[in-house]
Amino acid sequence: MSFVHYLECSNCGNKLEPDRLWNLCTICGKPLIVLYDLKKIRRSVKQGDITGRKPNLWRYHELLPVQNPNNILCLGEGFTPLIHATGLGKALRFANLFIKDEGQNPTGSIKARGLAVAVSRARELGVKEVSIPSRGNAAGAMSAYAAFGGLKAFVYMPRDVPKTFVVECIAMGAEVQLVNGSINNCEQKAAQDARQFRRFDMSTFKEPYRVEGKKTMGYELAEQMGWKLPDVIIYPTGEGTGLVGMWKAFEELQNLGWIKSKLPRMVAVQSGRCAPIVKAFNQGKEFADPWPEAQTIAHGLCVPGTIGDFLVLHTLRESRGTAVAVSDKEIMKAIKQVSDTQGIFCCPEGAATLAAFKNLRKQGWIEDNETVVLFNTATGLKYIHLWAKDLRF
Ligand SMILES: *Cc1c(COP(=O)(O)O)cnc(C)c1O
Repeated sequence: MSFVHYLECSNCGNKLEPDRLWNLCTICGKPLIVLYDLKKIRRSVKQGDITGRKPNLWRYHELLPVQNPNNILCLGEGFTPLIHATGLGKALRFANLFIKDEGQNPTGSIKARGLAVAVSRARELGVKEVSIPSRGNAAGAMSAYAAFGGLKAFVYMPRDVPKTFVVECIAMGAEVQLVNGSINNCEQKAAQDARQFRRFDMSTFKEPYRVEGKKTMGYELAEQMGWKLPDVIIYPTGEGTGLVGMWKAFEELQNLGWIKSKLPRMVAVQSGRCAPIVKAFNQGKEFADPWPEAQTIAHGLCVPGTIGDFLVLHTLRESRGTAVAVSDKEIMKAIKQVSDTQGIFCCPEGAATLAAFKNLRKQGWIEDNETVVLFNTATGLKYIHLWAKDLRF
C-alpha cells in the first residue's frame, strides 16, 4: 500500500520514524518531510498501472502515507480536470493555456487534498480530536474529513471571515471559535488549546502530511499531460504548500523515471497588500520577513508569514521561476474575464494567476509557444460576498 521510508527535517536533516505522530522537527522546530522507498516503488508499480485506477488522489497510494486502505477517508478529492482554456486563450491570443480546476474538489477548494490525507493519517495513528487555525477553506475541509472519520474538529477563524466559511464548518459539526485579530492570533489560540486539551494541531507545515496531499497536483499534471510537464506553472501562494508539494512530486517522478521532460518554472503569485514571498524573492533572501498589516480580498493569500518560507523560496529559485504581486483590482477584473470567456467561476486566488500571467507575458518572461498552467484553487461560489456591493443584493 504505502512505501513511506522515514520522516526527515527539511532544515537540519534529523530523521524520525514514520509510525508515530509528529508535528515539527524535535530538534530545530522546522517542517518535516516524508521520504519514500522509491527503489521499491519502482520495482512494484509502473506508470501504466495507475491509469486504470479510480479518479481521485488515492490512485497514487504507494506515494502517500496511509498504511491500511481501510483508513482512507475519501470524498472524491483530487484528479480534478485539467482544462485546455481555449476560450480564455483566444481572448488572450495564447494557444497553450490550461486551468487546473481545484474548485471541483470536495468542499469546493484545494484544501480538501491536504486535509483528506492528513486527517486520514492522523486517525490511523489514533488521533480523536483535531484543531486548525484557518481563513476558511482549510477549516471547511478539515471539518468535512473529521465528520466523515468520526473525529471532533476545532476550528479557529478570524472574526471577519465571510459567513460562508463559518456556516460550512458548523454544518459539519465542528466547534468554531471566532478570534479577534488576524490569522496569527488564531494560530496562537489554536496552539494553546491544542496543548492544553491534547488535540492534534493540523496547522499548515506543522504536521508532515498536508503537503503530501497537495503534492498529488504534481502527479496529476504529469499524468494528465501524458507524463510530460508544462513550461510554466502559476500558483496563488499563501503558505506555499502547493508549490513545495508539487516540486517534491516532480522530483519523486524524476527519481522513479516516470517523467523525462524538464521541470516547469514555478511562479508564486501573491497580493500586493500581502507579498512576503515576492519581497524576499526579489531581495535574494533565504527567509521572508513578516508582512505588516496584511490585507486582501483573496483570503487564501493573506498569510503574513509562514514557517515554510525557505522551502517556497528554494522551490522558486531551483525551478528558475519567479514571484509576482498583483492588486485586488486586477484580481476582480480577472475573475470576470475567466468567468465570461471560459465558463469557470473562479475564486480571487485563482484569478490572481491570470493577472500574473498577463504581467509576465507583457514582460516577455513567458513566450508565445510555451505551455502554461494556471491554478484555480477554489470555486467562486464561496466568494459571492465580493459581488454584493456591485450587484446590490
Ligand atoms: C489555501 C489557499 C491557497 C494557498 O495555498 P498554499 O498552497 O498554502 O499556498 C490558494 N487559494 C485558495 C483558495 C486557498 O484556500
